Order: sequence, then C-alpha cells, then structure tokens
Amino acid sequence: MTHGEKQVKEPILRVLRDVFGFDSFLPNQEEIVQAIVERQDAFIVMPTGGGKSLCYQLPAHVMNGTCMVISPLISLMKDQVDVMVATIAFGMGIDKSNVRYVLHGDLPKNIEGYYQETGRSGRDGEPAHCLLLFGYGDIPKIRFFIDQTEDESERTHQVRCLNHMVTYATVHACRRKQLLGYFGEVYPDARDEGGNLKPEMENSTSSAFPRQTPPLPCCDICAGEVESIDATQDAQIVMSAIARTDQRFGVHHIVAVVTGERSDRIRQLEHDQIKTFGVGRDRDKRHWRLIIDNLLAQGLIEQTTGDYPVLKLQPESKEVLFGGRQLHVLKTRKQEGKRPKPSTAAGPYDQALFETLRTLRKRLAVEQGVPPFVVFSDKTLHQMCQVFPTTTIDMTGISGVGQAKLARYGETFCAAIREHLKNQPGSEKRTVDA
Ligand SMILES: [Zn+2]
Repeated sequence: MTHGEKQVKEPILRVLRDVFGFDSFLPNQEEIVQAIVERQDAFIVMPTGGGKSLCYQLPAHVMNGTCMVISPLISLMKDQVDVMVATIAFGMGIDKSNVRYVLHGDLPKNIEGYYQETGRSGRDGEPAHCLLLFGYGDIPKIRFFIDQTEDESERTHQVRCLNHMVTYATVHACRRKQLLGYFGEVYPDARDEGGNLKPEMENSTSSAFPRQTPPLPCCDICAGEVESIDATQDAQIVMSAIARTDQRFGVHHIVAVVTGERSDRIRQLEHDQIKTFGVGRDRDKRHWRLIIDNLLAQGLIEQTTGDYPVLKLQPESKEVLFGGRQLHVLKTRKQEGKRPKPSTAAGPYDQALFETLRTLRKRLAVEQGVPPFVVFSDKTLHQMCQVFPTTTIDMTGISGVGQAKLARYGETFCAAIREHLKNQPGSEKRTVDA
C-alpha cells in the first residue's frame, strides 16, 4: 500500500461533502470506508439506522470498477412504497429513513426485538417517538404461551426474555440507558441525583442550532413524566387481605375488600369483619389494581389459571410482609397544565414552509418516478425551514444537499423559499420563535 493517510482521506471527505452533502461521518463510518478504499476485507455489523448504506455507496464513488450490492430484495422494494402508517411488518423490512413514530400495542417478546423495531424510527437522525403500551395484565397471557413450549431450556430462555422486558417497562431508570446497557453500552445519566438536567446534556442535542434548541429529554423517565413511589405498605395491605380471605379470591374481590365495598356478597362472606376491610378506601380501585399488578409482575404473589383465577401468596411474600423488602411502583405524574406538543424536528421550524417544500418534493418525486426521500430527506427540509436559504450558495450549507442535488433541485427549492418569504412581510431576516 502506498496510499498515505492524507491521500485517501481527501477524496473521501470531498465525496462525502459533494455527493452526499454531509460535513462529517457518523460513528465508525470513516474507519469502514477507509478500510474498503484500502481494499481490506471488512465484516461490519451495524445497528439499525447506523448508516450502513453510505459505507458501500461512498467507496463506489472513489474507486474504479463496479460496486455490486446484494441486499434482501423486500427491504429495497419496501423502500419504494410510501407507507404512511405501517403495521407490524417489521420482519418484512420497513426500511424508510423518516419513520417518526413507532407504537407497540403489545409487550414485545424480548429486548432485542424491541430494539430492532424501535430502531426503525429516526434513521435520518431526526427525533422520533416510540410508545410502548404496557399493562401488567399482558404478563399472564404471555406466560400462558410460554408455558406451552415443551423444550425446558427454551422455556427458561423465554421467561428470562420476558422478565427483561418487564423490567425495562417498570424500572425507574432512563429507557435509553437501559436499552444501551442491555447491549453493553454506557449512556450517561441525563439528570443529577437531585433530578436536574446535567449541563453537559443541555448542549448535546444539537450543535447546529444550540441557540434555539431546548434540551430534549430522551424518555418519559428523563422528562419526569413518571415517578417511583414506595408502595411497600400498600403491598402489605393487599397481601394481608389475600391471607385473611384464605387465598380463595380473585383481583376484583380483594380490591373490593381493601376499599371497603359494602356489597351483599362481602357481607355474606363476613369479609367486612376482617382487619384489612376498608383500610385502603382513601385510594381508588385503579391504585389497588396497580399494586396487585406490580406484585404479580415481580412474582411476589401469583394468580392461578382456570375459569376462576384467585390470588395466592408466594414464599417471597413473607419478605415484603415481614422481611423489610420494599415494593416500588411507577406512576404517571399528574400533568400540571398542558403537555408541550412533541416536535418532530431538532428545534423549531416554519411549518407552513415545510408543507410547501414537502408538496414540491412530492411533485418532483412523482415526475422522476422516485420516492420523495430520494429528492431530500425530512431532516434536510426541516433545516431549510430553519435557515431559509434563498440562494444556491446558502443552500450548500444545508445538511444533505450535495453538489448533484444542488444542481438538480437547488434553484427550484430556493425559488419556493423566496416565494414563501415574499408573502411574509418584513421577514427577510427572520428567525423562528421557540
Ligand atoms: Zn431517558
């Protein structure tokens, strides 16, 4: 090899800038591209959204010969479909870069699957939201199906995976930190012990627009939307009610006893005479169901199967009743005032202009028979709606605008932006309000 480092680096950076419109690489991309350009063999495993395609596309621009890409055909085909809302077809390769929202209506079977599926969003580097709907009631259902597995080691494995998922959903720790921690990576805490956002995190969300961009908490825990409460005493009340009714009743009845419901059935059974009757009447039924769900999830009590499932104490129940073991549960904080509307861009942008540019992008895409993101990504359009480039020179500063795209689309988009600004009096030099 006679290539000096500089000789290799310069054309690579030039192509990165001119063809792809980026000033810098994502993590690991540079080393990978360099290795390929130096004709080394490379075996690369990258996370979803890590920027794989650039790793083979860029060397094709700086090397002689033909670049052959062998890829699962379906994922390439899906890329040509403008799926606005996709159902669970993740296995079929929803491979668009601008997925903004992933909703899980059921608990995924394992962390690996959850990571893979949520990783489908925000691959263009723009913020995306993932919502996991979780209820403890899902757990017995999943356990039921796991119990059907005949192979014992496979069954044990599935239970372990389920426990990881439940822990992920129920522990009061940053979701991102937990996910990365599961895969052996360290993500620093966003908040100090007093719950304040650490100063270094305030600058980490966007270096491009630090002036306008408020720090974005990465999850509901970091945003302070949920709190962890010590529910040990409530757990003891529930367990005591289960014990004093001889472990022969289900969730509904135990909640009725704890909240002091005076029904005929309670009177007939004389459960209004036991010591725990009504001691939890200051909290609503939902609270007591939450406590029971948590106890079930942590295996501190058990629910039998069959037509009339009843709650049973477990050997571990003693640890909470007499052994000083604590129970902490997550509760959604009551919202004071209105929730801020989640933004899909890193920082505020002119939404009316965004709609205009999106329509323009759609028209160009249809004319050329390509998917819209091939023209420009959402991220690039968002930035145009923050910076308002009105000349092709301004346009070169926008991320994702390389020379080829500048020549093909630059003036058309500049004209649309100029037209938009013309209709906004006195807005030649305006900025967007946060
Ligand atoms: Zn977080």
